[in-house]
Amino acid sequence: MLYCANCAKSGKSWFTTEEAKEYRKLRIKNYELRKKEIDNSKLKIENSAAEAAGWYPVAIENLPVELPFIKDYKPLGIHSASSGQAAKAPLANHPEFYETTCPECGGPARRETDVSDNFLDSAWYFFRYIATEKENEAFDRERVEKWLPVTMYIGGAEHSVLHLLYSRFVTMFFYDQGLIDFDEPYKRFYAHGLLIKEGTKMSKSKGNVIIPDEYIRKFGADTLRTYLMFLGPFNQGGDFYDSAMEGMYRFLKRVWRLLSENSVGGVLRSETATPVKQATSAKGLRSPHALRMMHKTIKKVTEDLENLRYNTAIAALMEWYNFLASQKEVSQEEKEVFTKLLSPFAPHMTEELWEAYGNNYSVHSGGWPTYDPSYLQEDEVTIVVQINGKVRETLQMQQATSKKQEEVEEKAKESEKIRKYLQGKTVKKVIFVGGKIINFVLS
Ligand SMILES: [Zn+2]
Repeated sequence: MLYCANCAKSGKSWFTTEEAKEYRKLRIKNYELRKKEIDNSKLKIENSAAEAAGWYPVAIENLPVELPFIKDYKPLGIHSASSGQAAKAPLANHPEFYETTCPECGGPARRETDVSDNFLDSAWYFFRYIATEKENEAFDRERVEKWLPVTMYIGGAEHSVLHLLYSRFVTMFFYDQGLIDFDEPYKRFYAHGLLIKEGTKMSKSKGNVIIPDEYIRKFGADTLRTYLMFLGPFNQGGDFYDSAMEGMYRFLKRVWRLLSENSVGGVLRSETATPVKQATSAKGLRSPHALRMMHKTIKKVTEDLENLRYNTAIAALMEWYNFLASQKEVSQEEKEVFTKLLSPFAPHMTEELWEAYGNNYSVHSGGWPTYDPSYLQEDEVTIVVQINGKVRETLQMQQATSKKQEEVEEKAKESEKIRKYLQGKTVKKVIFVGGKIINFVLS
């Protein structure tokens, strides 16, 4: 912007020019709509003619206005409310910059020397970041339509006031100008917590900032990453302890050992991996409890990830790990599901495991596990097992599986009692009433 004292005297400004009149005609619907909102709310924002008098924007053909390289770039003087004295911008000491000509009357005019600072730039960088190679436009409209508004903005508490305010202001301005079709820059804001190191808030000024490199060298990036996600609720932060980091390292090593056992790919690099014995059958070990544990963990991790509850997602994986480690055998399905659920936290080791199972690259593509809600019910039912219509056995089964004939039949045949009856006999017919009875009719 530039200011002409001569024009100001006669009340002239850009707003009184023909261009401004044309521009007003062109103002698009969006602007009119917002203006109505403002009118309705009685919050009128107007420039008085007196305030605007003398001000003109720099003509487009004269852009950009390049700032001079100056040595004394610090503001001069201190703003003081009591004396009413304003600080002077460093550019105000450089007439070669501020002296210019009025586009209207051709008289001497003065450029604005209070230039915008980086706060303004950081208020709209998300428009620019997706088209940084464009030299002649601020942002690319097509890409903006594709990528924006921002799905989620994660920042510190200080962002929730200042930066959010500025970027919303700039976005609404773009919207009013008809440059974009949304007026809120972020669909969701989420304030993350702070890290505490040995009882003190982690900060550069206190010199207690964690340098991740040394931890990555010692424990690997997977451990650091998983630990950071585990040490506290994401919106509250937590205490960073070296000893707790070691605990996470041990956990991931145990997971590696369990999941890499008997893997078919045979490309495991861990010395703890046992040699390939036999591919674990996909159907092995399907107790109702095991199924429930798997589906429960899928549900928990999926929902927690969506809600940024990383610490409780990892806790659920630890619980499932403890269960799996107590079992005689871990099925291939369980291994793969566990690996997928862990992959957002420990992307590198899970990629290795995925390859070791003989799967195609990558663990991060090809879908996320889904859970079957019918396995989540804890209620067990009693199934009566009959031989030729006589009750010979009862089975405790999870409600969902009790309705599947194949599973009930399999379980019944596992029973010692039933096996005796079936020995050497041919099953002529099986009568099955889901959730109640299975009757083996022998010839
Ligand atoms: Zn003028």
